[in-house]
Amino acid sequence: PKYQNVGLIIGVTGIVGNSLVEILPLPNTPGGPWKVYGVARRPRPSWNADHPVQYIQCDILDIEDTRSKLSTLSDVTHLFYVTWASKSTEIENCQVNGKMFKNVLNTIIPNCPNLKHICLQTGRKHYLGPYELMGKVVTHDPPFHEDLPRLNVPNFYYTLEDILFEEVKKKQGLTWSIHRPGIIFGFSPYSMMNIVCTLCVYAAICKHEGVPLKFPGSKAAWDGYSDCSDADLIAEHEIWSAVDPNAKNEAFNVNNGDVFKWKHFWRVLAKQFGVEPGELDESSKLSLTEMMKDKGPVWDEIVKENELVGTKLEDVGIWWFADSVLGRECMLDIMNKSKKHGFVGFRDSKKAFVSWINKVKAHKIVP
Ligand code: NAD
Repeated sequence: PKYQNVGLIIGVTGIVGNSLVEILPLPNTPGGPWKVYGVARRPRPSWNADHPVQYIQCDILDIEDTRSKLSTLSDVTHLFYVTWASKSTEIENCQVNGKMFKNVLNTIIPNCPNLKHICLQTGRKHYLGPYELMGKVVTHDPPFHEDLPRLNVPNFYYTLEDILFEEVKKKQGLTWSIHRPGIIFGFSPYSMMNIVCTLCVYAAICKHEGVPLKFPGSKAAWDGYSDCSDADLIAEHEIWSAVDPNAKNEAFNVNNGDVFKWKHFWRVLAKQFGVEPGELDESSKLSLTEMMKDKGPVWDEIVKENELVGTKLEDVGIWWFADSVLGRECMLDIMNKSKKHGFVGFRDSKKAFVSWINKVKAHKIVP
């Protein structure tokens, strides 16, 4: 056959979906040559148009839509689940995310006789607890490792894991892996949590208004150690699990393998946009959510003036997320388990930060 493996990416326009769809079709990717299907809820965006993928617009929350669009795919060998939905409470998150995942698995597993492996992406909130309880729930002492027991609070990641464990039993030999990134640096104007794009949009607005790039965060984030997970590295990690027998039926943390401080990266960001970097100023209690709440029209003007790809401010500037990342201490986890199982990939986070900023600019999302 022309292809050795067939990947189905659920969430192909998301922050890791976009890296998967760029990397899977490359000639030297492990397990290749790969045929790739990609599912997302909205019509295919311009920045995805050149990727060699069969794009399927489908709402996986809708069982009828899922059945009609995905039950005809019979050749899928590997499933990459890199999506989620956000509701107002964690109980609702468990319900809706569980339903989406089940809809996909109940359609794909019975219809794809060659299905071998499922990669499920969750995240470090496995150890931190859900957003609504963050800071309120007592966690294990970081750095976190994969063998720690679950916290005794609802978490849609636990729901997804339990569904995965139940569903894989239905097919002999079907394997799985779980991937737990921290804050992701990557490219996607459609992501529900994209720190790099959000900070680029903030910097572009500061530049446009001729004001310094104030730091809207806490001393813990400014001065403390933070880490991140590069979206291409996560994609490589998921592909590694998909094809390497040493990585089957395990959960793995995935981070870049280094640490940084936001006070250093703040200068990097300011330089990339030609604005004056601000300093830590905790007394002013700045919040991006507050500072940016009326900037929609300013953003529209920036888009028009610079002939950027048309985006809405609320899609590209995820202020609550940046406030959350910059507002608290980053709790670290470790990569020993991945290394022991054979994955030694890493990224230089500063280089990664600059290169993702350049990608946001190159795709004309920001000036
Ligand atoms: P994302 O928000 O970047 O992308 C979501 C993708 O799923 C998009 O392609 C979107 O079109 C698609 N999608 C959403 N709803 C859909 C639906 N009903 N039907 C079909 N497609 C739909 O995703 P992400 O950030 O990579 O999130 C995946 C997992 O990673 C989540 O569990 C998230 O909590 C976790 N995570 C994310 C980050 C981060 O910084 N973004 C950090 C750690 C963990």
